[in-house]
Amino acid sequence: MQITFWGVRGSYPVPGAATVRYGGQTSCVEARSAKGDCVIVDAGTGMRALGNKLLRESMGPRQYHVLLSHVHWDHIQGLPFFSPAYVPGTKIAIHALLTAADELQQVIGGITRHEFFPMPLEAVPATFDYHQVEPGVEFDLGAFHVTPIALNHPFGSVGYRIDCDGSSWAYVSDTAPFDRVLHKQHFLSGPEPLSDDDKTSLGTMREALVAKLRGVDTVVYDTHFLPDEYARFPHYGHSTPDQALDICAEANVRRLVLYHHAPSHGDEQMDQIAATYLAKGEAAGVEVLTSFEGMTLPIGTADPPERTNPGIGPA
Ligand SMILES: [Zn+2]
Ligand SMILES: [Zn+2]
Repeated sequence: MQITFWGVRGSYPVPGAATVRYGGQTSCVEARSAKGDCVIVDAGTGMRALGNKLLRESMGPRQYHVLLSHVHWDHIQGLPFFSPAYVPGTKIAIHALLTAADELQQVIGGITRHEFFPMPLEAVPATFDYHQVEPGVEFDLGAFHVTPIALNHPFGSVGYRIDCDGSSWAYVSDTAPFDRVLHKQHFLSGPEPLSDDDKTSLGTMREALVAKLRGVDTVVYDTHFLPDEYARFPHYGHSTPDQALDICAEANVRRLVLYHHAPSHGDEQMDQIAATYLAKGEAAGVEVLTSFEGMTLPIGTADPPERTNPGIGPA
């Protein structure tokens, strides 16, 4: 199995001179089995280039599976621009959280309403169908075995552990650490004192995450904030690399990949973050890589990442 990063940013796309090497597109990762099966995790703006590549591989109709962490814009905005959706006969299965899936058709249909987009979802040649995922309820998609994991994010988010070809990786985005309630709280309601029930539920959520990540080869984690930024915006629903490293070290993960980079972090700052956390990871016994657009990682081997374009990625 291997994974390729098509978008590594959080919040909104930031193409431009400051992000040439790490990339400016939002969340989208493609997993491939050794046999060539494909599953797409999140549908941010990086999904557009992925769709073009998939279309070059096969012009005929195919079935695609898309696992959504949640339906914030940076995780769905690429869907209307996914070119295989315009090939008649294509089937696109969208898998998302129970709470989100109840409204999923409306949400995805909503972003293609005539005010926003020239073609409504019902008119797109591909057929879409929607599947509700529930944390803890595992399922198979072809060669992939998928385990959804509850995360701590405003209105909820779900991570995925994906096992295939005798190895595993996990996608943990978006999530805050587990010391304040975000999963059922509106952003503007602000921090509230934690009740005993809240503490229990967050503790259970963290324990379940660590248990599902135990022994996983590679974990891709929402590390949007540096510690000083997190201190200013703890209610935004994102983590720091230090918080991700704690979880990964506790779960005996081999490799942590920093992901969902803050749009304000330009290439030079990203180089510093990559170097700092590579060293911190070594001290904690976890290899820490920093994702960039176009990075392909073999899962379950110690091979270095490949670059699709030698000019992209860390200096
Ligand atoms: Zn996000
Ligand atoms: Zn989000």
